[in-house]
Amino acid sequence: MNNLLYTKQETCPVCQNTFLAMKVRKTKLCKKSQDSDFFTIYEEGIFPFFYDVYLCPECGYAALETRFHHLTQREKENIIKKLSSEWKKRPIPFERNPKDALVAYKLALYVAGLKEEKPSQIALLCHRIAWIYRIMEDKSEENRFLENAVNFYEKAVAEEEINDGIKLFYLIGELNRRLGKENEAARWLASVITEREKTGNALLIEMARDSWQKIREKSSNHF
Ligand SMILES: [Zn+2]
Repeated sequence: MNNLLYTKQETCPVCQNTFLAMKVRKTKLCKKSQDSDFFTIYEEGIFPFFYDVYLCPECGYAALETRFHHLTQREKENIIKKLSSEWKKRPIPFERNPKDALVAYKLALYVAGLKEEKPSQIALLCHRIAWIYRIMEDKSEENRFLENAVNFYEKAVAEEEINDGIKLFYLIGELNRRLGKENEAARWLASVITEREKTGNALLIEMARDSWQKIREKSSNHF
């Protein structure tokens, strides 16, 4: 087994099966590069976010580690009816390639819908699915999921109490820019830049300025 990975015993809250979840020794990783929407590449060639979704091989229940044990009785019954009854038991590979990660994340997205998770959670899953398609160099699926992520981030900003709201403003701006929606992007990025005194998040403001600059360069090329 890859020595950057280790196992942790987990109990599935839906079927009570115990299974081994894979975890990543994140402190051993060395960052190589980061995209403007926080997608990170490590020297070791591993994508730690692949392992943030726990997947029960017995019943198909999947969720981000942080949300794995959060579910009501009604949600549990709904998952058994709509997912587990259709699920074919299968061995889950310890090391995940992009395809394995995609299966886990798409199940987690389906489950998040059944659990009526908050828009910020759905947005996060869609955004990460877009990253997996970025790794797979599938631009049209990447954009489809970025589009979904933007819609849910916007919903999150409108409906939820969010601690780090300015980061979501930035992400909505940056993802819109990536999708070629410059006007929409500029509006959100401007609000990150004008909020700077309140947030004091210098790195985020710098990133918003870079993104804003790319929009200006693109629009000046048109004349
Ligand atoms: Zn299970």
